[in-house]
Amino acid sequence: MSSPGPAVHTNGQVHTNGIVRAPAAERDDARPPVIQVTDLVKDYARGSNVVHALRAVTLRVQPGEFVTVMGPSGSGKSTFMNLVGCLDRPTSGSFLLDGVDVPSLNRSQLADLRNHKLGFIFQGFNLLPRMNALENVMLPMVYAGVSGNIRRQRGHAALEAVGLEDRAHHRPNEMSGGQQQRVAIARALVNAPSLILADEPTGNLDSRTSVEIMAILQRLNRAGATIVLVTHEPDIATYSSRTVLFKDGTLVSDQPNRLIVVASDTIAGWPAREEEAA
Ligand code: ADP
Repeated sequence: MSSPGPAVHTNGQVHTNGIVRAPAAERDDARPPVIQVTDLVKDYARGSNVVHALRAVTLRVQPGEFVTVMGPSGSGKSTFMNLVGCLDRPTSGSFLLDGVDVPSLNRSQLADLRNHKLGFIFQGFNLLPRMNALENVMLPMVYAGVSGNIRRQRGHAALEAVGLEDRAHHRPNEMSGGQQQRVAIARALVNAPSLILADEPTGNLDSRTSVEIMAILQRLNRAGATIVLVTHEPDIATYSSRTVLFKDGTLVSDQPNRLIVVASDTIAGWPAREEEAA
């Protein structure tokens, strides 16, 4: 027997158990994939043994997707992210990043591709402690050879996009973990990358701050950013549009999330933070 199903509201959102969910954004299948890996293999030598970290992984990610990568420890998630992040080379298989054949590139071409096409967000924020927020955000543009004035303008705009314009001149140790991660997100955005790679971005944050970070990532995704995010937390995956699961170096599941939890609506239902209420 079929259940009556959740009530659908006029704005297309669905409320189930008090949680606001929205249908997945349309992925853009008309454009070429941002990630296209085919039969990707990565073996590591360990003494006289070979570790098969990735076994013939095939995956396509279209522009506008928000994909969560999950799987137990040792399943190959980091290996996959390192390859997609152009930080390591596959043993075999093909990998096109935004149409570019990555395995054929030399070291400096790879560095260039990383700088222009990828934005990285890490669990530990990885901000430079002696630089303020604006300087940290401007750094990828220094490597990309963007002129000083434009660096400053784009740096301020990126900080504004994550709601931190008023912290531009604060150093990381003068900011909370959530604020540092927002600076790191701004830094990931400044070169308008084709893909944002986030490795456990909420792993060092409390639950509430985690949802705030997911709200920012969802906003960026709605504005067109393609995001691939690794997490151990099933809750975090509910904010993305698709979840892939690794096990023993193999992709064992690849599911669209038909209804996505809307992080900003989750936050709207909470009481104000003490410091905000004061
Ligand atoms: P996960 O990120 O899911 O925890 P990893 O990609 O780190 O998994 O690891 C997959 C497998 O590859 C594991 O068995 C791990 O021990 C092995 N591995 C990862 N990196 C190396 C390396 N540099 N040298 C040897 N083995 C490695």
